[in-house]
Amino acid sequence: MRCLIVSDIHGNFAAFDAVLQAAPGYDQVWCLGDIVGYGPEPRECIQRLRNLPFVAVAGNHDWAVANRVDLNDFNADAQEAAHWTHSQLHPSDLEWLSHLPERLVLDGFTLVHGSPRHPIWEYILQPSIARASFAYFDTPFCLVGHTHVPIMYALTEGREGIRCRTHVPPQDAPLPLTDAPRMIVNPGSVGQPRDGNPLAAYAILDTEAQTLSFHRQSYAVEETQRKMDAHHLPTRLIARLSLGW
Ligand code: ZN
Repeated sequence: MRCLIVSDIHGNFAAFDAVLQAAPGYDQVWCLGDIVGYGPEPRECIQRLRNLPFVAVAGNHDWAVANRVDLNDFNADAQEAAHWTHSQLHPSDLEWLSHLPERLVLDGFTLVHGSPRHPIWEYILQPSIARASFAYFDTPFCLVGHTHVPIMYALTEGREGIRCRTHVPPQDAPLPLTDAPRMIVNPGSVGQPRDGNPLAAYAILDTEAQTLSFHRQSYAVEETQRKMDAHHLPTRLIARLSLGW
């Protein structure tokens, strides 16, 4: 099976659609949460995802928009975008978001939004946090989102003991998973990249070939920005899309 791994779509339909069109053949979409929040087309993103063969876990924005976590934990721009997003969604969308699971385990992969220790909120931003996270899942690999930065953390055991090493994923090159160490992998964000590269990020997992590859895709950033502007969403959220920050 080939799985398209996406995270942090954030209501950016132009980016999501560009990834769905460009990604090489896939059988299923694995979504790591934050389908909505920030972007101008939350409903379109939910509907498009639900029309595909997919699995998804909940992100902090998904549950905030559905009133399942406290909005006071968000910064002012994120709160404003979450209120607006809530106003755009049908009760059935909100119900669906609120029932997304915190964690899924599939084919040797644990899927969470933030971290396996605190799936909704924890950011894996440093090797020390990644290192501690390995105790909270049993599968060889864990897929996470939330930071919007593509990265891999590998747990290796050598003469110097157990180490957690950080790797920037190679682009467009299949990475063999057979004999690979245990890893926590972040594919990056579709709808709001924060690694200085504004292109939409995604990964492809081939469960038969046992390979994982990372990709970037251009999309009409201005189209998303124009729609955000028309809905009077916060200017900082609009500007950051051009910069990938
Ligand atoms: Zn996010």
